[in-house]
Amino acid sequence: MRDRADLVIIGGGVVGLSLAYHLARLGFTDVVVLEQGYLCFGASGRNGGGVRQQWSTEENIQLMKESVQMFRRLSSETGYNVWFRQGGYLFLARDAASAQGLEANVKLQNRCGVPTRLISPAEAQRVVPGLAPAGIQVCAYNPTDGVLFPFPAVWGMARAATQLGVAVETFTRVTAIEARGRQIVKVVTDRGAIATNRVVNAAGAWSVQVARLLGVELPNKPYRHEILISEPLKPFLDPMVSDLSDGTYFSQTMRGEICGGVSDPAEPSSMETRSSLRFLERMCRAMVRVVPTLANVRVMRQWAGFYDETPDGQPILGRVDEVDGFIQLHGFGGHGMMLAPIVGKLAAEWILRKADHALFQRYDLGRFKRGEVQKETFSIG
Ligand SMILES: Cc1cc2nc3c(=O)[nH]c(=O)nc-3n(C[C@H](O)[C@H](O)[C@H](O)COP(=O)(O)OP(=O)(O)OC[C@H]3O[C@@H](n4cnc5c(N)ncnc54)[C@H](O)[C@@H]3O)c2cc1C
Repeated sequence: MRDRADLVIIGGGVVGLSLAYHLARLGFTDVVVLEQGYLCFGASGRNGGGVRQQWSTEENIQLMKESVQMFRRLSSETGYNVWFRQGGYLFLARDAASAQGLEANVKLQNRCGVPTRLISPAEAQRVVPGLAPAGIQVCAYNPTDGVLFPFPAVWGMARAATQLGVAVETFTRVTAIEARGRQIVKVVTDRGAIATNRVVNAAGAWSVQVARLLGVELPNKPYRHEILISEPLKPFLDPMVSDLSDGTYFSQTMRGEICGGVSDPAEPSSMETRSSLRFLERMCRAMVRVVPTLANVRVMRQWAGFYDETPDGQPILGRVDEVDGFIQLHGFGGHGMMLAPIVGKLAAEWILRKADHALFQRYDLGRFKRGEVQKETFSIG
């Protein structure tokens, strides 16, 4: 392992690797990525792969428009097929408040150039064969959203970054970060130390622990989020379907499996990754309510990962007051996979001072002290 680096990235998830990849593309390769487990150990290897531009803030819509274009290029850029399939996203509203929310979002998305449409439950049945229309007031459908297979997206970014000269060290856990006054001097791992003045905290649900190594307190909380996958079926489901009434979402993978999860308001903050019977039961009921014929389908596997949540549902990006050269890139909740390409690219440009992006002031840690928070109201799967 290198014993010095211009920049050390803690966390080999999609966010840390996207940053490493984009730094390397800009010619900055004196970078080491440290990952305590294998690639895909964290949330980046456990998610549903949903990629959507249907958001309720202009900023997230614009970011996601860029990310979609980047995912379209990622397979050819990295040589790994990420199986990005633009089959759309269909949101279902069952009450007046959700319906009004979708209506307002669609107007905003259209103003930003995203072709989302409000459609009736009858029209939605043509998009999703077998959809049960009872109780659905209105749907929002954007055919240019999509899903991808998370593993190759992570592996591809890691390989491309490595080929350009970045070092990616797996099974290497950061145990301490040493500073002299405000200046970082060293990152200590269980495989040796790396002298550096710059560290990026891209440790996802572990970011709070990493920040504490430098005495920085973060407001993030980890929550278990469970997900399951069925036996493979003949392809019938183009879009990711997302029911706003209970936070259910599911899509069909390129191999035919139905893969999805559901929010659980009773889930406490924890670092628990065991699977629960409660989830299995709630998820099966929720899917069958949306598409009743799924009652005959067998579940093959379920697993869990973390949502790394912040108080306003937006990530924490940028500098901290306490230490120089300590950059935060975490707090992506249930949407870090889709935001990783564009956030990694913008962060690389910002770190190398090639461009200034307002994002890194607006979403810095200090916003919570300043009370400058803009809550994203539409942050489910
Ligand atoms: C079930 C589920 C479904 C989801 N569905 C979607 C979806 O459809 N679309 C979407 O966009 N997002 C989804 N998400 C969210 C998405 O997976 C995350 O937001 C994203 O993967 C976060 O990436 P990350 O790199 O910040 O974190 P992670 O992938 O968790 O990476 C952080 C890494 O840091 C490493 N690390 C931590 N501490 C240390 C240390 N001390 N030393 C070295 N390494 C360390 C960890 O091992 C980990 O690999 C889902 C998440 C889950 C759990």
